[in-house]
Amino acid sequence: MQTPPRPLQMVDLRAEVAALRPELDAALAGVLDATAFVRGPFVRQFEADLAAYLSALDARAPEVHVVSCANGTDAIQIALMALGVGPGDEVVCPAFTFVATAEAAALLGATPVFCDIDPESYNLDPARLAEAITERTKAVVPVHLFGQMADMAGIRAVCEPRGIPIVEDAAQAIGATRDGEAACLSGAMGTLSFYPSKNLGAYGDGGAVVTTDAVLAERARRVANHGAARKYYHPEVGVNSRLDAMQAAILGVKLPYLPGWTTARRLAASLYDDHLRDAADIVRPVRQPGARHVFHQYTVRVPERDRVAGALRERGIPTMVYYPEPIHNMTAYAEGWAEGDLPETERACAEVLSLPMHPHLSPTDVAYIAETLTEVVGTPIAA
Ligand SMILES: *Cc1c(COP(=O)(O)O)cnc(C)c1O
Repeated sequence: MQTPPRPLQMVDLRAEVAALRPELDAALAGVLDATAFVRGPFVRQFEADLAAYLSALDARAPEVHVVSCANGTDAIQIALMALGVGPGDEVVCPAFTFVATAEAAALLGATPVFCDIDPESYNLDPARLAEAITERTKAVVPVHLFGQMADMAGIRAVCEPRGIPIVEDAAQAIGATRDGEAACLSGAMGTLSFYPSKNLGAYGDGGAVVTTDAVLAERARRVANHGAARKYYHPEVGVNSRLDAMQAAILGVKLPYLPGWTTARRLAASLYDDHLRDAADIVRPVRQPGARHVFHQYTVRVPERDRVAGALRERGIPTMVYYPEPIHNMTAYAEGWAEGDLPETERACAEVLSLPMHPHLSPTDVAYIAETLTEVVGTPIAA
C-alpha cells in the first residue's frame, strides 16, 4: 500500500462531532434556554457525573470531589495553591512533559526541580526521586504521560515518610488505573485537562482539580473563585478560573462515551503492537504491571526519528513529537541545569514519535500506518 486508505489525522474531532451532533445540539440549546452560562446547574451536574465516573474506577470506591476550572494548567496551579505552595518552595516534577506541569509551579514563585524518567514508562522514576527532594520540597507532581499511570506506590513510598503531598498531573490519563487505583485518586490531588484533543475533550478549554480530601476540595474551590469565602469576601488571594456551562454541557454529553472510546483506543494500540511486534528497531509502548493504559498517545521510539517522521508525512501519515525539548533545557527553566543532567529525559526527546491515535481509527488505518512505519524505519539513508 502506497497511499493511505483515507486521510489520516492525529485526532478525528470531525467524526466525533458528526456522531454526537443531535445530542450536542440539544445540550447546547438547554444552556441557551436556561441562560445559566457560568457556574450553575450544568457545571454542578458535570462535576457530580465526573466524580461518580472516577470513583467507580477505583477499587477503594472513594468519595471524590471535583472542582472544575478553566483549563488543565490552571488545575495544577490551583492544586498547588490549595497545598500552600509559594515563593521559595520547590516542586519536583519530570522534565519530559508538557511545559504546563513546571509552569504552574513557576507561576507561584516556586522552583520546579526536575527528576529523570524511567525509560520504559516515560514517567517519573521513583528510584531517582529521593535525590531531587530537599527540605524545601513542598509537593511532587508526577505526570501520567501518554495515558499510563506513573508508579504511584513507588512515589508514595518516597513522599509519605517525608510528609510531601503528591499532585498527579492526569491531563493525559483520565480513566487510567493501576493496581486498583484510578488516576487523580492516588495522591493528595489530581488534575485533568479538557483541551479538545485530550481523551475527554471539551470544544474549547476546561479543566478540573480532583481529590478525595473534602478539606483540600474546599480550599481548591475557594482558590479557583478569587479566594472567596463567600460572595464578595476574599480572605486570600485566588484566581478566576471557571469551566463555563457550554463546555460543561458538552462534556456531559461526551462523558458516557468515554469508556467505549477508551476501549477503542486500547484496541487500536493492541493492533499497532501486533503489526509492529517483529520490527526490530521500533520500540513499542511498554505496559507497566497492573496498569490499564488509556493511550492518549501511542508513542514509539525509532532511530533517525526526524527522517522517519518526514518519510511518513510524504506517505500521508501525520505524526507528532511529544516532546522535542526537555523542560530543563528551556530558557525560562534552565537556570542551574545543563544538557546531560537528565539522560533518559533527553534520550526520550530525541527518539519518541507519536502515531495517530483516536477512537475512530480503523484496523485498516492502523495496518497502513504500522506497515508504512516498518518499511520506512527499515530503509535508512545510505551512509
Ligand atoms: C494538556 C496538558 C496540560 C495542560 O492542559 P491545558 O488544558 O492545555 O491547560 C498539562 N499537563 C499535561 C501533561 C498535558 O498534557
